[in-house]
Amino acid sequence: MLDVRHCATLAEAAGLLAGDRHALLIGGGTLVMRDVNEGRLTDGTLVRVSDPAFRQVNAGGARIELGAGVTMAMVLASRELGFLHAPARSIGGPAVRNMATIGGNLFAACPYGDFTVALLALEAQVVVQSGYGSGRAMPLEDFLAARDRGGIGLVTAVQFARPQNPADLRFRKVSRVKPKGIAVLSIAAHLPLAGGRVAQPRIAYGAMAPTPIRARAVERVLEGKPLDAAAIQAARQAALEGCRPATDAIASEWYRREILPVHLARLLAGEAP
Ligand SMILES: Cc1cc2nc3c(=O)[nH]c(=O)nc-3n(C[C@H](O)[C@H](O)[C@H](O)COP(=O)(O)OP(=O)(O)OC[C@H]3O[C@@H](n4cnc5c(N)ncnc54)[C@H](O)[C@@H]3O)c2cc1C
Repeated sequence: MLDVRHCATLAEAAGLLAGDRHALLIGGGTLVMRDVNEGRLTDGTLVRVSDPAFRQVNAGGARIELGAGVTMAMVLASRELGFLHAPARSIGGPAVRNMATIGGNLFAACPYGDFTVALLALEAQVVVQSGYGSGRAMPLEDFLAARDRGGIGLVTAVQFARPQNPADLRFRKVSRVKPKGIAVLSIAAHLPLAGGRVAQPRIAYGAMAPTPIRARAVERVLEGKPLDAAAIQAARQAALEGCRPATDAIASEWYRREILPVHLARLLAGEAP
C-alpha cells in the first residue's frame, strides 16, 4: 500500500528518507505519479515537503541557490534566471513545467534531464541532506555518478555561479517533435570569453550516455582559442569522445552519434536552433 507523509521541514523529510528505504520524495510528481498511475509503484511512502526553503529562489547575486522544489515555471518567471530560460522551456509542455522540479530533473532517467545538462555546464553543486544532519554540497558530476546506486537522500538545493554574461550559456535540444518532444540529445555550453578567447569552457551533453556528461575533449580543444571556424572544426572532431548513447524509442545510438557533432558545431557557431 502507498502512504503519503507531509513534512513541514527539510530535516524531517531527510530523516524519513534515511530511515525508510521504501520512502520516496515526491517533487512535482510528473514521474512519480506516472509510476503510481501505471501500477509500477504500489508500495512504500511518498514524502512531500512544504518547507518554504525547498522552493526558494536566491538569484540576486553572483552565487545562485535554487531550492530543489523550484519548478521550471518558476525559473521561467524569474528575469534574473533568463540565461536558464531555454533549458527550462525545453521541458515538456506548460502543464509539466508547472509541476516539474529542478530536484526531480536531477533524478530523471535518460533521455530526460535537460535542465540538469545546463546545470552541468554551469558546474553546479548539489546540496544533499542525508538524515537529520546538515546538508553537504557535492559537484553535480559526482552526484550523477552516484545517483543510480540509490540512497542519495534528500536533495535540498542546487548552487552555481551566475555566468558573467547571460549569453555565455548556450543551450540546444534536438527532438523529433516540437515544441514538446523528448530529447534525441541536448547540449549546453558555458563559453566565457577573455580577450576574445574562450576561457574555461564547460560543455555538457544529455542523452549521449546513461546520465548527462561533460564533454572534456571538446573543452580542451576550445580552451584559449577564439571561437572561429578552426576551433569549431576541432571541437566537432572531438565531440564524441566519452559518449555512450543508447538506442531507444526516440533515436538509435548511430543517429545520436551522427548528429551530435553537427549540432555542437551549430551551437558553437551561434546558429539559432
Ligand atoms: C509528458 C511529460 C513530458 C516530459 N518532458 C520532459 C522533457 O522534455 N525533458 C525532461 O528533462 N524531462 C521531461 N519529463 C520528465 C519530468 O517531468 C522532468 O524531468 C521533471 O523535472 C521531473 O521533476 P518532478 O519534480 O516532477 O519529479 P518527481 O516525479 O517528483 O520525482 C522524480 C524522481 O526524483 C526523485 N526526487 C525528486 N525530487 C527529489 C529531491 N529533492 N530529493 C531527492 N529525490 C528527489 C523522486 O523520488 C523520484 O524518484 C517529462 C515528463 C512528462 C510526464
